[in-house]
Amino acid sequence: MIKYALVCEKDHEFESWFPNSDSFDKQVKRGLVDCPHCGSIRVSKALMAPQISTSRKKEERADKMRETLAKMPVPPTPMAAPPPVPVSVPAPAPVAVLDEKHEELRAAIRELHEKIVANTEDVGKQFPEQARKMHDGDLPVRSIRGEATLEEAKELWEEGIPVLPVPPLPEDRN
Ligand SMILES: [Zn+2]
Repeated sequence: MIKYALVCEKDHEFESWFPNSDSFDKQVKRGLVDCPHCGSIRVSKALMAPQISTSRKKEERADKMRETLAKMPVPPTPMAAPPPVPVSVPAPAPVAVLDEKHEELRAAIRELHEKIVANTEDVGKQFPEQARKMHDGDLPVRSIRGEATLEEAKELWEEGIPVLPVPPLPEDRN
């Protein structure tokens, strides 16, 4: 079906449907198309492009859409996020190994600290002075421990007196 916008001799505009463009010409020639306003059969096409039935067009479009949709792969359904891992799940092996190492390390530090304490004389704040005197031969060399600021320790190192930081006792967890 083709819809034509028509106009009669008195400029009445109207629309009419025809099976095709040939049948329009034939019907007009036979006087079968008359103006709905004045009944004139002297009608012609208005200056408008003929349109294909919009309802059919819509149907075709809908059909095409259905076809396209049918061909389309099913869109992936959004997956629900996996449930959070319960906290009570046993820790993976690497963590257990690490903990073990930390435990060993803590034990080693504790042992070193205890050895240093057991084998040194605590001279407290006298440490930098005594260390320097031992180094200069003013005092007999012995193992001492004491307090030194970072700056003092640095100065001793620069004077060629090797001082070692005493590792602090690691805190026991639990
Ligand atoms: Zn008319």
